[in-house]
Amino acid sequence: MNIPAIAVHGGSGTIASSIDDPKIRKSYLDALREALEAGFSLLTNDGTALESVKKAVTVLEDCELFNAGKGSVFTSKGDHEMDAAIMDGKTLDAGAVAGIKGIKNPVLFADDIMKNTPFVFLAGNEAMEYARRQKYEFLPDSYFFTQLRYDQWTNLRGSGDVSLDHSSDNGHKFGTVGAVAVDSEGNLAAATSTGGMTNKAWGRVGDSPMIGAGTYAKNQTCAVSCTGHGEYFIRGVVAYDVSCLMEYGGMSLKDATNEAIFKRLKKMGGEGGLIAIDAHGNIYMPFNTEGMYRGLKNNRQTMTQIL
Ligand code: ASP
Repeated sequence: MNIPAIAVHGGSGTIASSIDDPKIRKSYLDALREALEAGFSLLTNDGTALESVKKAVTVLEDCELFNAGKGSVFTSKGDHEMDAAIMDGKTLDAGAVAGIKGIKNPVLFADDIMKNTPFVFLAGNEAMEYARRQKYEFLPDSYFFTQLRYDQWTNLRGSGDVSLDHSSDNGHKFGTVGAVAVDSEGNLAAATSTGGMTNKAWGRVGDSPMIGAGTYAKNQTCAVSCTGHGEYFIRGVVAYDVSCLMEYGGMSLKDATNEAIFKRLKKMGGEGGLIAIDAHGNIYMPFNTEGMYRGLKNNRQTMTQIL
């Protein structure tokens, strides 16, 4: 038993060569560490796994280095549409939101939907109408603007191409953020937040806010947050698949996560990774891309890594 514990990710993919700059590298690792520490300090002060993942994802949403909240990629229209989900492994309660604009922390809105509405998943303008009624503060586009994302969009703008979040040297980078945690009672939770794909159009929604695809938690098996080419994660129902491989296939967390990423996702041609935790505090973070921004923290260690 190694509980409580938390893991976070800041996306997977081709890692931009700028990461070789020690200053840039440190800024990413520091951001992951800050999220881990914020989430873990709740866990060591009687906080629940649910509160912990919410806090960790909020920290990453507020950091412009990642494609979630501040720093979200640009849509084909030149604005930012964000998706997020949260799930409680104890009750199987879940909240999710897609295609929202102007809300600083989409994960808090997903949590609100879970707790204060009879629904799981709200989308688009009507969801924003609900947010307005709940007196959410709406921030201008300038809050979400970053030069890097703008330059990425400029390369695609008007081309009609819909592209994944490219790194500056044109590799695929999926900058979604997520967290999974187990609290001292053995309860699990997962949360994921993203700006989706650069130049996305037609109301495209990825796997991140879809319960079972990019986000899933169940106390009896695991909590999972995914990152990668969302269309494959949706079709592979990857987060729930990991849980099913444990529940019905009798696999360990390690075998289930490896099977999902290195065999099933790869066979479909999908790129990405995930972070997963079980009730004993075991954590696995497999990815089939060049790298994945990731980290974990428990009573024995704090670890952050990119490649
Ligand atoms: N999975 C996300 C999506 O397809 C992208 C990411 O992981 O960065 O929207």
